[in-house]
Amino acid sequence: MSRKKIIAGNWKMYKTPQQAVDFVKAFLPLVADHHRDEIVICPPFIDLPAVVEAAKGSNVGVGAQNMHWEKEGAFTGEISPAMLVAAHVPYVIIGHSERRQYFNETDDTVNRKIEVALEHGLTPIACVGEVLEEREANLTEDVLRRQCSRAFRGISAKKAAKLVVAYEPVWAIGTGKTATPEIAQEAHMVIRHEAEKAFGTEFAHALRIQYGGSVKPDNAHALMSQPDIDGALVGGASLDPHNFAKIVKY
Ligand code: PEP
Repeated sequence: MSRKKIIAGNWKMYKTPQQAVDFVKAFLPLVADHHRDEIVICPPFIDLPAVVEAAKGSNVGVGAQNMHWEKEGAFTGEISPAMLVAAHVPYVIIGHSERRQYFNETDDTVNRKIEVALEHGLTPIACVGEVLEEREANLTEDVLRRQCSRAFRGISAKKAAKLVVAYEPVWAIGTGKTATPEIAQEAHMVIRHEAEKAFGTEFAHALRIQYGGSVKPDNAHALMSQPDIDGALVGGASLDPHNFAKIVKY
């Protein structure tokens, strides 16, 4: 089964609204003829309306980097799934390792958020991945199985149809250290197997699993040529329109 690759840029806490619009204006012409893959950019919340407007009618989708699971309420500083829908933002990154590390995101909150994102018709990009100590202790497979099984818990295959998973080994994020294509492929197979256990074989074959961790123009091709790597979640290299376009066109 052929899966359309999804290449998403995670801008983290970079770019003002004006800088974000400047990026979009420079980026759109570079990828205007590119329909092979799905392209997404995930700016900070405050940039979203400007980026949605600037990317309107193009082949570039827009995503948020996080959301709360409640529809509304007394949750100072949070953004709800209904707000993303109302702002025409169809994608949302869930459980990025920086959220797990600095903002107490847990497997359980990731599970709640994925479920609610799907209920709102959003496409969640659910992040999983081991830290360096876990890899060195040969625990990668256990960690991925635990994170996936908890992230998928209680969600039906029917409901999960839009789900995307990103394998992001934490030791490779922002460090310049990339997992070799073989290491990444191995991890992607583990994730696909967990998806098969949770949602069934057909779902698992269709599930898109991105690789993330120091993806750059010069390693994008080797990574995305692996049979189970269905795209990339790109941090640093997505901040420059030319670099990101090169990755998209790997
Ligand atoms: C990320 O933020 O998800 C990421 C993979 O960052 P980088 O590409 O900079 O390693």
